[in-house]
Amino acid sequence: MFTNKETFKKVFCNRLEMLSGKSFSESTSRDHYNTLGSLVREYISSNWIQTNEKYRSSKQKQVYYLSIEFLLGRLLGNNLINLGINQIVEEGLLELGIDIKNIEEAEADAGLGNGGLGRLAACFLDSLASLNLPGHGCGIRYKHGLFDQKIIEGYQVEYPEQWLRHGNVWEIRKSDQAAEISFWGEVESFYHEGKLKFRHVNAEKITAVPYDIPVIGYGTESVNTLQLWNAEPSPFPHNKNILEYKRETEAVSEFLYPDDTHDDGKILRLKQQYFLVSASLQSILRNYKSTHGSLEDLHNGVAIHINDTHPVLAVPELMRILMDEEGMGWYEAWQVTTKTISYTNHTTLSEALEKWPIYIFKPLLPRIFMIVEEINERFCKELWKLYPGDWNRIENMAVIAHGVVKMAHLAIVGSYSVNGVAKLHSEILKKREMKLFYEVYPDKFNNKTNGITHRRWLLKANPQLAALLTETIGNDWIYEPKSLLELKNYRYDPTILERLYDVKISRKEILAKRILAQTGIKVDPYSIFDVQVKRLHEYKRQLLNVLHIMYLYNRMKEDSSFTFHPRTFIFGAKASPGYYYAKKIIKLINSVAEKVNSDKQTSEFLKVIFIENYRVSIAEDIFPAADVSEQISTASKEASGTGNMKFMMNGALTIGTLDGANIEIKDAVGDENIFTFGLKAEEVLHYYQNGGYYSNEYYYHDKRISKVLEQLINGHFPETEGDFEAIYDSLLTQNDQYFVLRDFASYVAAQEQVNDAYQDRSKWLEKSLLNIAHSGYFSSDRTIREYAKHIWKIDS
Ligand SMILES: *Cc1c(COP(=O)(O)O)cnc(C)c1O
Repeated sequence: MFTNKETFKKVFCNRLEMLSGKSFSESTSRDHYNTLGSLVREYISSNWIQTNEKYRSSKQKQVYYLSIEFLLGRLLGNNLINLGINQIVEEGLLELGIDIKNIEEAEADAGLGNGGLGRLAACFLDSLASLNLPGHGCGIRYKHGLFDQKIIEGYQVEYPEQWLRHGNVWEIRKSDQAAEISFWGEVESFYHEGKLKFRHVNAEKITAVPYDIPVIGYGTESVNTLQLWNAEPSPFPHNKNILEYKRETEAVSEFLYPDDTHDDGKILRLKQQYFLVSASLQSILRNYKSTHGSLEDLHNGVAIHINDTHPVLAVPELMRILMDEEGMGWYEAWQVTTKTISYTNHTTLSEALEKWPIYIFKPLLPRIFMIVEEINERFCKELWKLYPGDWNRIENMAVIAHGVVKMAHLAIVGSYSVNGVAKLHSEILKKREMKLFYEVYPDKFNNKTNGITHRRWLLKANPQLAALLTETIGNDWIYEPKSLLELKNYRYDPTILERLYDVKISRKEILAKRILAQTGIKVDPYSIFDVQVKRLHEYKRQLLNVLHIMYLYNRMKEDSSFTFHPRTFIFGAKASPGYYYAKKIIKLINSVAEKVNSDKQTSEFLKVIFIENYRVSIAEDIFPAADVSEQISTASKEASGTGNMKFMMNGALTIGTLDGANIEIKDAVGDENIFTFGLKAEEVLHYYQNGGYYSNEYYYHDKRISKVLEQLINGHFPETEGDFEAIYDSLLTQNDQYFVLRDFASYVAAQEQVNDAYQDRSKWLEKSLLNIAHSGYFSSDRTIREYAKHIWKIDS
């Protein structure tokens, strides 16, 4: 149906009438979207079936990537490109008078994630499929993804997201593969053939129904699967008010938790975690048994990867199934489990390390808790042998201590591989955060620097740049992104550099149009687009960026001869609804924007834009338009970052701290092609350990700082009385835990370098080109190859 335009047009029009029940002239973009989506799904269905057949018959080792988040964004455009049918479709539609852009806009983002962690999972799925590797995602089919953000009078207001409102063409409900999940109840012991056994009784059961979404690789025939679980009532609930039961059940897959670092200790959150894990494991083991029979060699046929600790109950759940349902003894089950499960750590922020109070955990998951207790006891006994008498150490390493279960400890003990997500982060894990575990298990620890799929973030998001690259160096880079290095040969080629400039301007014009439509503000595509888009967090230091803008504005007001290359500062960020301080920073950005944008004296030079509801589909318009990438986290706090890689790949230059993958970006492009500043991770960690930082000193000694901080509380922003006192206090009274003032001067200096560098156009373009050239390393294809080879052992 996609072999040529004529056939496509005919099939499309027929299907459109059939699906929408409307004539062509009455049909809407949504009808077109549903039609095209259903045709694509039909087109890949035999490949999907054959892939599954092949995996079954060849008994090839399968990888299952368990993640509480998958931040997929839109699927249509990506699928068309990966299938190589985008051109026929686009041209065919055009002949029917339809702009494919409008169809793509009709698709809701699948926003089943908060930020980097969920987007990483989505990039990994794309790379697994594109590299023809047998890897699948396991997640939750949240009815509502991350909240929709509106900015009202400068404040963030949240609305429930409704991506499923108009259905989802990509998913297939597989009710015959449902699984039962048990909560509450008690554990009973009994003897069977002389062995002590346990069973979970009086449990409240809910049903998990899988919805399969095809994962289509680029230029490959294999189609992998993302399986998302939906929570539904069991047909036979036990003695409970039926309405209450239904509501409680459906709540399990109703909302994505809108917070990527704090764990607010809700029972529902733990329920979600066990729901995901239990349903996925039941499904994985059912498939495995149907091809392999017994489970003793599970690790030869299956690798289970847990994305952060949210799915770490996979460890005790696998133990439970192997012992209680398959009859294995503890030792054997432990061997199988710890050879099957591997774990990625995503953060060292202590508030983000999951800890569950026993009083919540034990009643909800009584059998699982029992197994965790046993894991803990045996682990502590091992430690006792290694460190006899060292109570302190054992207490610090225990899986259960002081009334809580430490999920990261469970993950390290129960898995065969523990990886960080950038070199610095992995080193901090080994040398500090998990030092005691590293001493016991040196071989488990390794690094896998994050990556992003260059297909979505370059080929799809920036077709203008992709075309220029292909014309210049051929299209090898699409299959082998390291080939982008060939671009280096053109670093002094004025024609190529000027074309790179034209591409950038054209993308800035597209974003400018969008900004105008959304905010009514006209931004100049010839100004420097300086962009910070990411979740709003104190450690990411959007505040440092805003304070710098306030300083620039002040200086212009004081000294009319002070000018610089016009700059458009662009922000996009969602704050967790309960994160009071983060929401005040959003308000501050918007207050500064209002002041600056409405000032005729400065507006030629300075504009500040807050793009609301930052998400994957908007990101695809932002990264290609950026000149400057703001990656200014407090060193040691950002485990890797992936936004930094998307910017780089689209030719933006980074202004950043030596944190996360910024360091590796610097190593790749060289010091001349990045702007670094600020404290190093070691210095930050040294301050935390030894004290010695007094933010007041910076306030008193730097007039730029004192002026800006006073403006937070002195009525400078008239309509915001009291809004920014919390910010003022955190910087001065609470001694600025994220070293914003400490790094201020060095940030200002780095920004001056950015301004100076932009004056030399060909030099800037050369830097931009070199960033693109070196971005191949940061493709998730490279990352996934490393996981496949070193962790999952599926690279045969
Ligand atoms: C890449 C991405 C992120 C992660 O950005 P960081 O700058 O690494 O924090 C978050 N949200 C979306 C929508 C993204 O595409």
